[in-house]
Amino acid sequence: MKTIRAGLLGLPLLALAGPAMAQGQLNLYCSVQVEWCQAIATNFEKDTGVKVAMTQKGSGETFAQIRAEAQNPKADVWFGGTGDPHMAAAEEKLTLVYESANLKELHPWARQQWEQSGKRAVGVYAGALGFGFNRELLAKKGQPAPACWADLVKPGLKGEIQMANPNSSGTAYVMIATIVQLMGEDQAFAYMKALHPNINAYTRSGTAPIKAVARGETAVSISFVHDAVVEANAGFPADYATPCEGTGFEIGSMSIIAGARNLPNARKFYDWALTAPAQRLGYDAGKQLQTPANRAAPLPPKAPDLSKMKLIEYDFAKYGRAAERKRLIERWDREIGSLPRG
Ligand code: PLP
Repeated sequence: MKTIRAGLLGLPLLALAGPAMAQGQLNLYCSVQVEWCQAIATNFEKDTGVKVAMTQKGSGETFAQIRAEAQNPKADVWFGGTGDPHMAAAEEKLTLVYESANLKELHPWARQQWEQSGKRAVGVYAGALGFGFNRELLAKKGQPAPACWADLVKPGLKGEIQMANPNSSGTAYVMIATIVQLMGEDQAFAYMKALHPNINAYTRSGTAPIKAVARGETAVSISFVHDAVVEANAGFPADYATPCEGTGFEIGSMSIIAGARNLPNARKFYDWALTAPAQRLGYDAGKQLQTPANRAAPLPPKAPDLSKMKLIEYDFAKYGRAAERKRLIERWDREIGSLPRG
């Protein structure tokens, strides 16, 4: 009788009894570029038989969603996205303590993220912030490539720059936290006010500005510099610079969601995502160029080398604090986001 009913419902009877079904499922929130998200979902499914339902959204958006769903969590794991909102989620205990046996394979900066987050978030990649630019468009406009934060506020770049909105984008929040650390808070907000006439859009996604640069829709972006190389590798006239005054960086992170309905699979995914073969997928399958957290996963060819940049000592504990993040974003909304378009 049971068999007949299942047959009538059109369920694949053999699959129901087979190994893939037996492995259950995983609900994955993913905040890197969609090509990489799809690659990890497909390969994890292939390696383990666990069925993955993946949703890709920006870091700030995903954090807001996890918080809104706290009483009824929908996701099991959050992979990728900037480290600050992962730290904030850890502080609010929206994510779980977990110690993977694979932690020992990671670079110290990835393990430090785990320690600073109370063992709730782990580093999965790193990337530096900087400027992307379209060299053909800049040449057409007679403008030099920007080399310093100070160059972005010059009148020659009026309406030529794009950056993301920090409410939805982790990239934009890293930019704010970076210049606050470089200049002091009031000076940083004065800088962003001076920059505003040169900004033609505050995009929802952190990667939209460099895609617009690549396609000739804007001359300059404030972006993670690895993404400029992704566009250059795809044949677009995109380049990057890291600011002469110094710049910030991200420790892209991963966390298990508190109340995960598929906890054993969440842990299985977390362990798997830290292995060298899974870490190589970022480049091999997703064409992404972040610095992998696993020491045995090589820096992809042409990937920006963070050890050669003038990086600030980004205070991840301070700028990942939930209240500090909320305060800075609210100040940005009040003083910058609400300014009339130029
Ligand atoms: N895509 C890539 C390639 C990244 O390195 C990052 C940062 O972690 C993101 C997306 C995050 O995007 P967003 O700024 O929209 O949160």
